Amino acid sequence: MADVTMDKLISLSKRRGFVFQSSEIYGGLASAWDYGPLGVQLKKNIQNYWWKEMTQLHDNIVGIDAAIMMHPRVWEASGHVENFTDPLVDCKECKNRFRADQIDEALLKEKKCPECGGELTEPRNFNLMFQTHMGPLEDSGSVVYLRPETAQGIYVNFKNVWQTSRLKIPFGIAQVGKAFRNEITTKNFIFRTCEFEQMEMQFFINPTEDDKWFDHWMQKRMNYYHELGIRPSKLRFHEHGPGELAHYAKKAFDIEYEFPFGWKELEGIHNRTDFDLKRHNEYSGKEMIYLDDQTKEKYVPYIIETSAGLTRSVLMVLSDAYEDEVLGEGDERTVLHFHPQIAPIQVGVFPLVKKDGLAELAKDIEKDLREDFTTFYDQGGAIGRRYRRQDEIGTPYGITIDYDTKETGTVTLRFRDSMEQVRVHKDELTKRIKTEIANYKRGA
Ligand code: ATP
Repeated sequence: MADVTMDKLISLSKRRGFVFQSSEIYGGLASAWDYGPLGVQLKKNIQNYWWKEMTQLHDNIVGIDAAIMMHPRVWEASGHVENFTDPLVDCKECKNRFRADQIDEALLKEKKCPECGGELTEPRNFNLMFQTHMGPLEDSGSVVYLRPETAQGIYVNFKNVWQTSRLKIPFGIAQVGKAFRNEITTKNFIFRTCEFEQMEMQFFINPTEDDKWFDHWMQKRMNYYHELGIRPSKLRFHEHGPGELAHYAKKAFDIEYEFPFGWKELEGIHNRTDFDLKRHNEYSGKEMIYLDDQTKEKYVPYIIETSAGLTRSVLMVLSDAYEDEVLGEGDERTVLHFHPQIAPIQVGVFPLVKKDGLAELAKDIEKDLREDFTTFYDQGGAIGRRYRRQDEIGTPYGITIDYDTKETGTVTLRFRDSMEQVRVHKDELTKRIKTEIANYKRGA
C-alpha cells in the first residue's frame, strides 16, 4: 500500500469537494478552509457520532451550546489573558515569525533564523486569543475575545446545568463548537487552523476520585476511536511531562494519531482539578460549591476534561481511510475506507443502463433508501467507472439495478473494500445494509 501524503489528501479533498481553500477566488486566506458538500457531511457525521457516544448513551451527561463571545472576565479567571501565550521570535532580516519552542535549540541559542540565517529577536510572549470590540465604542471597556476553547462556556454554566437538570456528581456536560486561536504556525492543511471546532466533555467529580475517573475516560476515549473505525496501530497515548502541563492541569494524556507528517495530538484528556471552578468562584463572587444531598458533603468538584478536535478529526479520518490500491494488471484505484457509519455517502445507486425503465426503477429504490441512509444516484458512464468514483469518496455500498431486477426484484450489492458483489432482493436492502454497517470490518 502506497503511503498517503498530504499532497494526495489535499488534492483529493479539493477535487471531490471535501475541503476548499477559503476565499479561493481572492487568492485564499492563509489557514482558513471551507468544507464542501462531502466534507460537511463527513464532519457532521463525526460530530453526531461523538454526540451520541458522549450524551445519548449516558444517563449522566447532558449537552449545552454556549456563546462564542463571553464576558471578558471569564478569560481573566481562566488564566488565558495571562498565560495563553506562545513564545515568539522574529527574524530581523526576512521578517518571518517562529514559535521559539519549535526552533532547533542550537539555532535559538545562536539567535539564527532557520529560514535565512538572519538574526532573531529575543523571545516574546504573544497571546493567542483573538480580540474584538462589542458595541459602538472601540475602547478598552468594550474588548471581547473569541473563545480559544469551548470548555469555559461549560464551567460558567456548571450551576445552571446542575440545578436545572437535577444531576448528581459524577456528571458530565458536553459541547461542540467553534474555537479561535491566533496560531502562528498554521500548516498541514486543516490540522492547525486559527478557526476550528472542538468536541469537549467536562466531567464533574468528587476530588477524591480523580484517578479513577481519569483512567476511565482515557480508556473510553481510546475505545471511541477504535469504534469509529480508526486503525489501532495508528493511535497511541502520550503523557505530558512536568514541563508540558498546561497551567490548569494536574495530569494530562494526549491521544495521538500518526498523521502523514508524524505522531500528533488528536485529543487531550486533562485532570483540571478544581482550578477553573475555584477561579470563577473568586472572580465572579458566585459560589461554585457542590452539595451532596445524601452525604451532606460540600466541595468544589474536580473536572476531568476530554477535549477533541472536530476539524482535526476530519483530517485524521481522511488520512486513515486513504489508500491507493494496486489491483493487478496495471489497474489501480483510490479508495477511502471510511467506516460506513460516518461515510458522507453510504449507498450509491446505479441503473446498469438508462433505458427500458431501469433508471426509473433505480430512482424508486434510491428514494426508499434515503429514509435510512445518505445516498447518491448516478446513471452516467460505464458501471466500472461509476464504482470507482464512489470508491474515491468512500461510499461503502453500491447497488446496481439491471434487467434481472425487472424480472426477479433482485439487485447487485457491491462492497467497496473487497469489491465483492452479491444479489439481494430489493425489499431486503434496508435490513441488509443496516446489518452490514453494524458488522463492518475494514477490508471485508
Ligand atoms: P496543540 O499542542 O496542538 O496546539 P493544544 O494542546 O493546545 O494543541 P488543547 O488546548 O488541548 O490543544 O485543545 C484540544 C484539542 O483541540 C486538540 O487536541 C486539537 O484536536 C484541537 N485543537 C487545538 N488547537 C487547534 C487548532 N489550532 N486547530 C485545529 N484543532 C485544534
